[in-house]
Amino acid sequence: MRSNQPALTNQSAQPRVGVIGGGQLAGMMAGAAKALGLKLIVQTANATDPAVAIASQSIIAGLDDLQATKKLAAQIDVMTFENEFIDLTALTPLAAAGLCFRPCLKTLQPLLDKYKQRTYLQAIGLPVPQFAALAAGQNPLEFGFSWPVVIKSRRHGYDGQGTFVIGDAAALAAFWQRVKLPASEPDQAFLVEEFVPYQQELAVVAARSVTGEIVTYPVVETQQEQQVCRRVIAPAAISDAIATQIAAIAQRLLTELDAIGVFGIELFQTADGKILINEIAPRTHNSGHFSLDACPTSQFEQHLRAICGLPLGDCTLKTAGAVMVNLLGFEQAESSYPDQQQQLAKLPQTFVHWYGKTQSHPGRKLGHVTTLLDTADRQAALDAAQAIEAIWYGDRSRS
Ligand code: ADP
Repeated sequence: MRSNQPALTNQSAQPRVGVIGGGQLAGMMAGAAKALGLKLIVQTANATDPAVAIASQSIIAGLDDLQATKKLAAQIDVMTFENEFIDLTALTPLAAAGLCFRPCLKTLQPLLDKYKQRTYLQAIGLPVPQFAALAAGQNPLEFGFSWPVVIKSRRHGYDGQGTFVIGDAAALAAFWQRVKLPASEPDQAFLVEEFVPYQQELAVVAARSVTGEIVTYPVVETQQEQQVCRRVIAPAAISDAIATQIAAIAQRLLTELDAIGVFGIELFQTADGKILINEIAPRTHNSGHFSLDACPTSQFEQHLRAICGLPLGDCTLKTAGAVMVNLLGFEQAESSYPDQQQQLAKLPQTFVHWYGKTQSHPGRKLGHVTTLLDTADRQAALDAAQAIEAIWYGDRSRS
């Protein structure tokens, strides 16, 4: 099926790519662009942001600086994103004037607000946890939920920052006391959903091309601590039936969205083998970082291939397994941790990716490490992750 979306803006021989955002995802995309011989320009707030050193060019301006986006638009053939903090209303006139966004704004429209995303997924028949919009001060028990529940910011949450597990009435009262409600539309700030007692968290990265071809990377297990991704095991230990079900979810979703580019799909698997979608990220995703070293085509190259109208690449695993560990900040510091980086690089079949951030603070994603494995055994992946974390965190406990 061919997508009926706008063509590239200027149709240069080699499409020039604009990215609104300049963090590590844009940085890794810029690395892939170099390898493909594509020009990539980022718009990002600070000259020290990770993508600036790697991109062909940068426009230093806030992501919501529309004048800067217009300047960027004049220099590129296709505009893409590295995060979901997108102001669709502001960008709509640019799309109307012929700027080619991939994914397009219509694709993004149902995904940027977590409540609208859940509503959309449910409407197209995909499995989601029970959920409801939550007005300011409201008690979820009023509409049939029981403790614990999960309250989420509808917009601008990341790395669990907008996700709150609420165990009882006292915790709910404390939550409403401490939360800062937005001045406009305070009743549309949160949603509530059932707490899913998942057996494991899974994720899949999928890509769709302009011709409607869809490819999916292997389904992975993701492990979160305090709602932040700590490690990713590829492939996940799941049955063929579950893998097929997840591939079908990806296929249905990307087709229905008329998506172009790479999308991350986070899932819960329950003890009785049910699959529920946690979240769709309309962009490259942390759960796909292993693909840089473990697959012939990384998710970053794949995204560029998809949005530039190139044929999609091979996303199978080159080895039997792989494990990716996020290097999270554990202190307030200004350091690139050269000793730890050197020690990590000495581990067998191990690749260190440092994002070049100049400031570390607890929980900040500073880099990641991938170890390739000659087995798909889950325990071997956990052991390899443990070796990485022992070097990175030292005797600071894995909190
Ligand atoms: P973010 O968008 O900030 O990453 P998520 O909604 O993905 O936030 O939540 C982060 C983590 O919180 C999830 O990976 C999961 O571990 C936990 N979580 C989120 N929603 C639920 C839920 N309904 N039930 C149980 N755990 C949840």
